[in-house]
Amino acid sequence: MLLLLNTYPLMVSEDLVFRSKETTLQSSVSVIVYSLSGLDQLTEENVAAAMAVVEESSLSRVLVTNSTGRILYDTRETGGAIGEYGLYTEIVQALLGNDAFTCTYGRGAFRSRASSPVLYRNQIIGAVYAYEYDTEQAALLAGLQGNLLRLSGVIAVVVLALSMVLSRALTQKIGRLLTAIRQVRAGAYSHRADIRGKDEIAQIAQEFNSLTDRLQTTESARRRFVSDASHELKTPLAAIRLLTDSILQTENIDPAITREFVSDIGQEAERLARITEDLLRLTRLDSGAVGKPEVVDVLPVLEQVMRMMNLVAQEKGVEMTYDAAEGCTVLAAKDEIHQVIYNLVDNAVKYSAAGGAVQVSLRWRSEQVVLEVADNGAGIPEEDLPRIFQRFYRVDKARSRAAGGTGLGLSIVQDTMEKRGGTVEAANRPGGGAVFTVRWPYAKEGERL
Ligand code: ADP
Repeated sequence: MLLLLNTYPLMVSEDLVFRSKETTLQSSVSVIVYSLSGLDQLTEENVAAAMAVVEESSLSRVLVTNSTGRILYDTRETGGAIGEYGLYTEIVQALLGNDAFTCTYGRGAFRSRASSPVLYRNQIIGAVYAYEYDTEQAALLAGLQGNLLRLSGVIAVVVLALSMVLSRALTQKIGRLLTAIRQVRAGAYSHRADIRGKDEIAQIAQEFNSLTDRLQTTESARRRFVSDASHELKTPLAAIRLLTDSILQTENIDPAITREFVSDIGQEAERLARITEDLLRLTRLDSGAVGKPEVVDVLPVLEQVMRMMNLVAQEKGVEMTYDAAEGCTVLAAKDEIHQVIYNLVDNAVKYSAAGGAVQVSLRWRSEQVVLEVADNGAGIPEEDLPRIFQRFYRVDKARSRAAGGTGLGLSIVQDTMEKRGGTVEAANRPGGGAVFTVRWPYAKEGERL
């Protein structure tokens, strides 16, 4: 920009001066040519006589030559060239019948030269050459050049200062963002980048902050999960420890009591096995290691679960019925469908009182396969409904424990369903009891993920 500012106006002004010089110098030459017109041939005397009446002008030098180029008249008094041959390019051009003009600018002056032929009855009888040496306009141009240079200097300083201020503000912001990134990397998940504004860096900082929010949530969920899991594992271990200590420390212990204690130890060990199995299943779901999906008909899986659960239900005095439609096909792994149905039916039986009824229905409607597991047990308190899918969350801990629950069954159902683009919902039935609704996207035979 500065380069353009320093060249373009100068080029334009120089061109303008050249053009004005051309007009003025050519018209001066025309006046002289006019004053010589009418002469049939040029001699030193008649030219001098004719030139005597031509007004003094600003020209630095005027030469008049005859048709051979010999100088007949020269305004320069000392060192004049009368009698010599003037072989300037302009004079040669004029003697060939053309008007000529050249102008150069340099060393503080404009030097302009113009020439024209002198004609008598269409014969070239000589040439007029004028030379002008102008320092005034050159000084004006030099002044303009100086002003432009000063102006450029001021602009350069302002731009430099402004860009330094801006870049400092920018690097400060980036620095703050970097500090925040390092703090969070070091584990300070509550640290946030405090960068205001609407520019890109502020936007990156906002994105970083929301990323850190999620990281903090995930991290606290992970910590809660680890502490819950270790607590859950600690309880049966403590019971086992207590029972073994009692057996070891009691002298002459009754064999019947020993048997009872050992059976309790066995139950706690079984509980530990169930929890670790469920934890392992959840970890596999978290890491995305799910079985290869295929088109599975849900009905045979449901029938298998019902057969499996029938004995337990009969023992408890719970009646189980199901009502299923044909052709309910979904894209999933057979094992995980089994797990989902088993967990829900197991819960329904577990939380039903003796004489209760569990009803399962399987239907497909508008691109979905819908499974409903309903019971007429105590149901779930409304305030607990949103939390029952959380890991280790149980409405009644003692009851769940007594029934052999781990508090992980519904989390497994929810995670499994989400992996296949499905959903699970819990609600209470108007007449009492809970109903769980599972929805898979409907898959046609032959479809693959
Ligand atoms: P649990 O192993 O304790 O059954 P789940 O994750 O399967 O763990 O269920 C979480 C909690 O949801 C249970 O402890 C129970 O309080 C409640 N729940 C689940 N299913 C039912 C049901 N059919 N009726 C009443 N409460 C239920």
